[in-house]
Amino acid sequence: MEHDGIDRSVLVQNHDVHRLEGRDAQTDNFAAAKALSDVIASTLGPKGLDKLLVTSDGTVVVTNDGASIVDRMEIVHPAARSVVDVASKQDSRVGDGTTSTIVLTGALLTEAESLLESGLHQTSVARGYSLAAERATETLRQRTVPIDSDDEEQLRSIAETAITGKWNQQASEFLAEKTVSAVRAIQRDRTVELRRLTRKAIPGGSYYDSEVVDGLVIDMESSSTTAVSPEPGPLDAFNSATVALVDDQLTIETVSGQGAVSLESPDDLQTLRTYERDIYERYVDRIVDTGADVVFCQKSIDDMVRYLLAREGVLAVERTRQDELEKLGRATGAHAVGTVDDLTESDVGRAQRIDQRDLGPTEVIVVDGGPGVEQASLVLRGGTQQVADEAKRVVDGCFHVLSHAIEDSIVVPGGGATEVSLASDLRSYAASVSGREQLAIEAFADALEAIPRQLASSGGMDPIDTIVELRASHDDGEFATGLVFEGESGTIDDVRERGVLEPFAVKARTISGAAEAANLLVRVDDVVATSGKETGEEAEHDHDHGPGACRKRRGVPLGGRALDGALRPVP
Ligand code: ADP
Ligand code: MG
Repeated sequence: MEHDGIDRSVLVQNHDVHRLEGRDAQTDNFAAAKALSDVIASTLGPKGLDKLLVTSDGTVVVTNDGASIVDRMEIVHPAARSVVDVASKQDSRVGDGTTSTIVLTGALLTEAESLLESGLHQTSVARGYSLAAERATETLRQRTVPIDSDDEEQLRSIAETAITGKWNQQASEFLAEKTVSAVRAIQRDRTVELRRLTRKAIPGGSYYDSEVVDGLVIDMESSSTTAVSPEPGPLDAFNSATVALVDDQLTIETVSGQGAVSLESPDDLQTLRTYERDIYERYVDRIVDTGADVVFCQKSIDDMVRYLLAREGVLAVERTRQDELEKLGRATGAHAVGTVDDLTESDVGRAQRIDQRDLGPTEVIVVDGGPGVEQASLVLRGGTQQVADEAKRVVDGCFHVLSHAIEDSIVVPGGGATEVSLASDLRSYAASVSGREQLAIEAFADALEAIPRQLASSGGMDPIDTIVELRASHDDGEFATGLVFEGESGTIDDVRERGVLEPFAVKARTISGAAEAANLLVRVDDVVATSGKETGEEAEHDHDHGPGACRKRRGVPLGGRALDGALRPVP
């Protein structure tokens, strides 16, 4: 290991430092990454099994979603971490294909290991893998199937392919349908701006209570928003309501540093009251003059103003979040004004209906702008917060998948068909490559078939017979023959006709991501880690960012200290 002229023993001066070199480092890295792949592999596909995750605070989550599992595992082995990082990137960029990326990486490493054992140099393996990934991506372009971005049935098939296996078939179909309607509500030609889509996970009820609203659903629990009804009790629904948005407070501003007003006589108090009342009446007149039925205010509203507004039959909603004000603008066509004095009739918008609802333990205000508005919401329900959150997470991925499918208007065959087709092309391409890289390209082809093999074995089909049959069909030029699972049984068929379709972007990233992750580990021949310090814990980020925003959270400890080699099961 001194080929670059550096005596690396100087790197290890401290007894607290663990170091592994050469084949030891590789074996250790490969073992860790493959252990991760083995844990995840059985969840692949519609017949994949669920994992029960127990978090350190005792919360139990049952899921089948690869992205969700790796996000919740506390993986300390650096090699396994690097695979997870690539797979998480997959999830945040394209919303699907995390499990496939990890399974493919595991298969590439298994192949790499035997190539290295048989004497191939690691640079030849890495180069061969890069060539294979490039070639596969080019070929993938020729295997695409055009779709009509307005064909809802096709879009539903794509959504179902992305989410089947996450729930029972009926629930998957139902949620795929809701996801498609939500995306269709904001789709304009071939563009889908996902920021126009609000997703809320609200506990209580069942999946089948999930609904799409053409407008905005404001969760009164999670924000400190409050609505003040003109009448005591729950507020009435407003049909065809006029909406005003005020990005300010409706109280009298206190000059900072001047905490108190000194009043010398009862007259002073009277003067102050009159002064206040004049200002508040001015606010209320301004709002009432615009014909508003409901006013959403970003900050607080003084009791007197609420009272005066209520007397005029206007509903006041205070402390509406800034981002929600923007969304309300898109849902109703209203313009938020910086101060109520600027409010004019041209700033108000319209909603088809505004009402307050109790969804289980959560109170929400539903602002339904009617068809054609620029903002839609999907409210996901589930027995508990965890169940609803899990549904939201899977649906978030599905939104990404649909937006890629709509914007690119091309998909590729799923159910392992594309992998078999690319493998067959890579084998003939390998023959044209001179040098040892040829072996690595063939190995890449074999690794791709790990996907249909895993799909078959999860579905109770014989993996070897299945691969043989798929290869035979592809040799006859049928590039879309793959596995189709519907109901209990799996069959071999043309997956285009059966609607098992995935966006091109997802598949392309799966291949390049797995090649990148595998090569990273193939090239490493030296691992140095300090044992004294554990890696810093990641803070929990789980704000309501847009769909697919990068999520990281602490989760179940799955491994021991760094360089432990293999992952241990959840204690
Ligand atoms: P990932 O995290 O990689 O998306 P999934 O568990 O979602 O993993 O499985 C995706 C795989 O399942 C893809 O290869 C996809 O083509 C396949 N698949 C999805 N639905 C079906 C189906 N009905 N029949 C056969 N294969 C399917
Ligand atoms: Mg998926």
